[in-house]
Amino acid sequence: MGSPLGPLFANIFLTHYESQWLRDSPVQPVFYRRYVDDTLWFLPQGSDVAALLTYMNSRHPNMHFTVETESNNCIPFIGLNVMHNTCNNVHTYFTSVYHKPSSTALCTNFNSFMYISYKLSAVKCLLWRALHLCSNWSLIHSEISSLRNMFLLNAYPSDILDRLIRSSVSNFIQPNLQFGPKKDRMYIGLPFLGKPTDALRRTIKTIGKKFFPSKDLIVYFTSGRRVSNFFQIKDSTPFGLRSHVVYQYTCTRCQSSYIGKTSRHLRHRISEHAGVSHITGRIMKCQSHSNIRDHCLTCAGSQCLTENFKILARGRSDTELLIKEHLLIERHNPSLNGNQGSVELLLR
Ligand SMILES: [Zn+2]
Repeated sequence: MGSPLGPLFANIFLTHYESQWLRDSPVQPVFYRRYVDDTLWFLPQGSDVAALLTYMNSRHPNMHFTVETESNNCIPFIGLNVMHNTCNNVHTYFTSVYHKPSSTALCTNFNSFMYISYKLSAVKCLLWRALHLCSNWSLIHSEISSLRNMFLLNAYPSDILDRLIRSSVSNFIQPNLQFGPKKDRMYIGLPFLGKPTDALRRTIKTIGKKFFPSKDLIVYFTSGRRVSNFFQIKDSTPFGLRSHVVYQYTCTRCQSSYIGKTSRHLRHRISEHAGVSHITGRIMKCQSHSNIRDHCLTCAGSQCLTENFKILARGRSDTELLIKEHLLIERHNPSLNGNQGSVELLLR
């Protein structure tokens, strides 16, 4: 399932067929659950699993099922370890967190240069998982004990761990209910530079509470320089397929220039300026107005070619692109842009 839409398509496909296949199945499950393409079946004792597999594999030419039966009364299923116990012919099932045989006790070290909240969140997240996936207190206790040992090995102080465990368990038993209207979240990203950034975060939060009481201001930290920045392993996006950019056109004949922005693929915008279809390359019947095309008609020998374009800046949102475009127009004063109106800058 390489495509981002793969899981969605797989889900639609299986949701459509599974009720029909289950109805006609030679073996009726006692319990059946599916998550995307993983299914968990509880079958009556002595059921013919091979016959069921043959039946499922004969349903659709593109579907191929494999089967995994319980081993040592356990079977993993989407992060769960499902355990089976039989006593006086009574079957009981328990669940706990599944750990891959290859998993190591390595996680973010407490001494690493990172905002403290992120380190504590790693603990809280795994505690949440233990509390919600383990089906009884004995399994919860065992999972939390192994988590505590793992974090101790990664230099987490025991008093911090114990405090987090206490608060997570008490919150699990008696959740803190939030009353009142839900606040809109506002995000602000800052590069993490240690203690000074934390002080700035607190100041921003205080200002946010005072001036935007209806907003929930979330300050998050980014890391400017990562190891991955030094080792580029991804192919760079072809020029024409780059999007969310501020571009500049320069006429090779008279050096006149134009600055614009686009959130689509740059080649679409260049084709629009040239007045041709980006799919067929043919001249379009309904051409939108373009200052670059107007200039090419008047400046003998000039052309609107991809080579005449270069990218000046990138932006993550339309607002960011708009601001950068205006600032770059202000700086370069391109002759083909003509009169530009101002855009009201709204801080929301
Ligand atoms: Zn020109």
